[in-house]
Amino acid sequence: MMDYIRRHLGIKLFITYLMVILVGVFVLAATAQFAIPGAFDRHMAGMGPMMGWGGGQGQGIVMEDLYGGFRASFFDALTWAALAATALALVVSIIFSRSVVAPVRAMMAASQCIAEGHYEERVVVGGIDELSQLAARFNTMAGQLEQIELMRRRLIGDVTHELRTPLTTIKGSMEGLMDGILPATPETFQQIHQEADRLARLVDDLQELSRVEAGAYPLDLKPVRASDLVESTLRRLSRQFDEKGVTLSTDLPSDLPAVRADEDRIGQVLINLVGNALQYTPQGGSVTVTARLHENEVQISMRDTGAGITPEHLPHIFDRFYRADKSRSRRAGGGSGIGLTIARHLVEAHGGRMWAESAGEGQGSLFTFSLPAAGG
Ligand code: ADP
Repeated sequence: MMDYIRRHLGIKLFITYLMVILVGVFVLAATAQFAIPGAFDRHMAGMGPMMGWGGGQGQGIVMEDLYGGFRASFFDALTWAALAATALALVVSIIFSRSVVAPVRAMMAASQCIAEGHYEERVVVGGIDELSQLAARFNTMAGQLEQIELMRRRLIGDVTHELRTPLTTIKGSMEGLMDGILPATPETFQQIHQEADRLARLVDDLQELSRVEAGAYPLDLKPVRASDLVESTLRRLSRQFDEKGVTLSTDLPSDLPAVRADEDRIGQVLINLVGNALQYTPQGGSVTVTARLHENEVQISMRDTGAGITPEHLPHIFDRFYRADKSRSRRAGGGSGIGLTIARHLVEAHGGRMWAESAGEGQGSLFTFSLPAAGG
């Protein structure tokens, strides 16, 4: 019984109302018991002369009779009033508890559905009271869970797809070697090694991506000169530019304010952007790295005269695993399409932004990222 009461809001409400009614009836009855005899006597004594009573025993009997009748009708009325109030309390508690319990039940049912994997489940929100606000927040939370689940599924799909390609090539080559179809030449081994290398890079990239997305890395922020950051990166890549025959130039004003940055992390971003510019620019082309101050931030841009990016690819190139031309990236030993995703996360962790512009295919690209100026 107690358990049943504890589980039902409507019964709890009804019991609360009932207690209030009982206290009211008790107080009224007790007050009537003590106060009515005196008041009745006073009133009757005042009415005696008007009614022509002369006093004596006859008057006492009439008074007692009248008082008995009055008392009985008073307590009758009180009993009916208590019963009516109890019935009303029952009706009110049912109606009220329904209006409270119905949305709570709906949320309970929806949360159960979500727990079972039906992330599209929502509750109907009507009204503006606290319960409706709770329902609206519940829906927001359900929407976010649905989004996370979608991303998780997409990530698993993407990773599986990315792993399958090199694995299939390695497996196929090994089978060819075992069956004697493929010659055991250095080229064959070189090809297998390349695919294994690709797998290893992919796993490293994935590990880095998960760390960066979770924000699970420390940032050693220090004021550094943007030109120092750019120059040290370009020194590391200059040989590759020479080998490919792509011109590398810079425009780095000497009066730029320092930026607050983790040198290693921003170095990683620069390597990725300048490396991409080199990869997608054919021989004879050029890459220019510039830096400028724009409202309290230093913007570093990489402009190349290479492949360019078509408008339909441009909004997606920062998405993970996105490659505008998958076959070309693979053939050219390109990355897995994670580099820009990591780079943008790193820049955003510094409080900066990153974006890309391109006039279209063959028109070159411009990648820019900003970092807050130190002390700004
Ligand atoms: P990847 O390792 O494949 O280069 P990224 O995340 O670095 O991956 O880049 C994603 C995609 O963006 C690339 O596959 C390419 O299609 C496009 N991209 C990046 N940089 C350039 C660039 N400088 N010129 C043309 N396309 C680019």
